[in-house]
Amino acid sequence: RPHSFGGPHKGARTAAVRLHLVKVLVIGSGAREHALCHSLSHDPAVTALHCAPGNAGIAEIAELHRVDILDGAAVSALAAELGVDLVVIGPEAPLVAGVADAVREAGIPVFGPSKEAARLEGSKAFAKDVMAAAGVPTARSYVCTTAEEAAAALDAFGAPYVVKDDGLAAGKGVVVTDDVEAAKAHAAACMGASSAPSGQRGRVVIEEYLDGPEVSLFAVTDGRTVVPLQPAQDFKRAFDDDEGPNTGGMGAYSPLPWASPDLVDEVLRTVLQPTVDEMRRRGTPFSGLLYAGLAITSRGIRVVEFNARFGDPETQVVLARLQTPLAGVLMAAATGDLADLPPLRWSDEAAVTVVVAAQNYPGSPRTGDPITGLEEVAAQDAPHAYVLHAGTRRDGDTVVSAGGRVLSVTATGKDLAEARDRAYTAVSRIRLEGSHHRSDIAARAAAQA
Ligand code: AMP
Repeated sequence: RPHSFGGPHKGARTAAVRLHLVKVLVIGSGAREHALCHSLSHDPAVTALHCAPGNAGIAEIAELHRVDILDGAAVSALAAELGVDLVVIGPEAPLVAGVADAVREAGIPVFGPSKEAARLEGSKAFAKDVMAAAGVPTARSYVCTTAEEAAAALDAFGAPYVVKDDGLAAGKGVVVTDDVEAAKAHAAACMGASSAPSGQRGRVVIEEYLDGPEVSLFAVTDGRTVVPLQPAQDFKRAFDDDEGPNTGGMGAYSPLPWASPDLVDEVLRTVLQPTVDEMRRRGTPFSGLLYAGLAITSRGIRVVEFNARFGDPETQVVLARLQTPLAGVLMAAATGDLADLPPLRWSDEAAVTVVVAAQNYPGSPRTGDPITGLEEVAAQDAPHAYVLHAGTRRDGDTVVSAGGRVLSVTATGKDLAEARDRAYTAVSRIRLEGSHHRSDIAARAAAQA
């Protein structure tokens, strides 16, 4: 791949051959995208880093651009104009809208699945169908379209009831409850106002309850070769001790000291590879990031859900531990060259991330408040602890809150206890009126380790 390199560095031409110098455009504006940009900005192969739309934190390491991220033609045009070699799509919505297809059709390598393949996340019923065909272990389930079917399915499984909207609901379309009336009400709401694509309106998935701890395992794939990353655990409930409503995620850690050392190999063999093979067999190969949300039940590993993109906040801790430069990994997945990628290298260190959320999150969040303490963290806690931005924007000289999850404070350490201490020390320096965060992220795992 020939690249012109305008920099002053004399050895650039040789380096270009070895490093495959790339210009990258990241799509998205959360802490996940900040984590991706953070890793890419430390990758010597990345000569230019762009992000659309980005946030106040990403602005410090990438050039920001305005674009409608759901508009494939607009994203392709931006990528072409910037002359980037790789587009990395962070969130699910553009994937489900077919933005990766548009960029690929424009001849630009893209990290992210096609619209068809993203249905693994976009439709829970589709994911169940693929898993059944591939022999992947998951919760038994019924797809229902009427109140009678839903009532019968709830009855068949018994409490606790698990009721899921078939379409994309940003992690908030799932109700787990012991109350059968609440379960029926959620099923009725899903069937009445489903976010599923038209033609499949009004479907609800009712499934058996899975006990046991949850694990998130990401894998990078080019549609054939599957390269698993390291497992992480996230915290979905808003408040300590898993109280309160579900959120997009309030914190995460990696590694998992309590998990079996065989976990990654087993999930690769029983879940990830069979799913990728089945998608290819269907003529809709899945390339990009396959995220398996797993329950480690008393009866073995079960898939809770698939996502078609990096998870937030697990990405923050997984990338904190990845030593292999990121651009080459994402590029190999985008171009079908993963089989040639040397094994990934991982740090022995642990990583913890704590989400600082706006007042009232996950309800309608309070926004527009100044955030202070960011410079103190940079001056006193870096490089072990750093702040990844989510819902932030710059207002003159100040950074102000602009979303529900505002910051993702990330730290590494020799073990989880040290990473945790560092993360919470950094959190303690940050001031945002009305904000809240969990105080128990990784606490149990750190005590076990
Ligand atoms: P999902 O959107 O499918 O990931 O579901 C969101 C959350 O609901 C999961 O992370 C679990 O905590 C919970 N959940 C989903 N399905 C089940 C299940 N079958 N049994 C128990 N909990 C579940």
